[in-house]
Amino acid sequence: MTAITEPAPAKVNLGLTLGPLREDGRHRLVTVMQPVGLCDRVSAAPAPLGAGEDECLCEGVEGENLALAALRDFRAATGWDGAPVRLEIEKKIPVAAGMAGGSADAGAALRIAERLSGIEDDELVDSVAAGLGSDVPAQVWPTRYLATGAGDVLHALPEPAPFGVLVVPSRHRLSTPDVFREADRLGLARSGAEVEAREAELVGALAAGAAFPPEDLMENDLEPAAVSLLPELEWTLDEVRGAGALRAFVCGSGPTVIGLFDVLGSAVAAATALAGRDPRPVAVEPWYPSALGPGRR
Ligand code: ATP
Repeated sequence: MTAITEPAPAKVNLGLTLGPLREDGRHRLVTVMQPVGLCDRVSAAPAPLGAGEDECLCEGVEGENLALAALRDFRAATGWDGAPVRLEIEKKIPVAAGMAGGSADAGAALRIAERLSGIEDDELVDSVAAGLGSDVPAQVWPTRYLATGAGDVLHALPEPAPFGVLVVPSRHRLSTPDVFREADRLGLARSGAEVEAREAELVGALAAGAAFPPEDLMENDLEPAAVSLLPELEWTLDEVRGAGALRAFVCGSGPTVIGLFDVLGSAVAAATALAGRDPRPVAVEPWYPSALGPGRR
């Protein structure tokens, strides 16, 4: 087995509509998930001689790695018993930042498992991904998706025209369940009818590959909950607007803030203006699946 590498792009949410609680205790959601060119790199090589099982090196992440869990679940679901693999993950995506970094690594590990095993069964891989976490299915084949249901029902959208994204990470972490609990406490959920109307409007507006959703749909309903738990986010949002962003909002459940720009150059200029922040902001463009090479999915 020769070493192979897969990119694992971060995702940003271009707005998020929070709907009512469902019977399973999860909220209805509508959100546009956009992969961006801020990528971890997941590599696989043979595990050292004598290793009885797969292993994973990933600096900055403690506890069980979702990429390793992905490999384990793939083996269990397919019966593939290829020699033990060592995964090595180069982290660039901030951890617990609302950018689905762990899910991106798990998605890349599943693509690696497909390549190593020669098993091409998209349906089975999608079901392994769904078992790993709600953000993983969109990361097996990253492209722009409209996510509905509880965020787990995916409709691929046309790839957008290029634009600029300023990613402003925080020194703090926010737990996704805490942010949802705070959203409940603040009563932020919209009615089912509103969710449906907004979903229909988004599908129509993005059908031709527009860069951005309409302005009124580019708000994140979870933002007041994230700001309530971490009030300094309000300052960050002001800084990003002050640096010229067309829109600034908390990404997913936060605490990363993103700013949107017409072109990459403007996002780069904003990143330079805010370079004194720690961690340092980065400017990126949308990530396109053609980066995976020809003949994939
Ligand atoms: P979520 O919203 O699903 O929590 P996130 O993007 O905010 O996702 P992640 O960066 O995926 O957050 O990290 C969430 C937690 O998952 C981390 O605290 C970490 O312990 C665990 N984790 C497991 N594997 C990874 C990985 N490969 N990269 C990052 N975190 C991982």
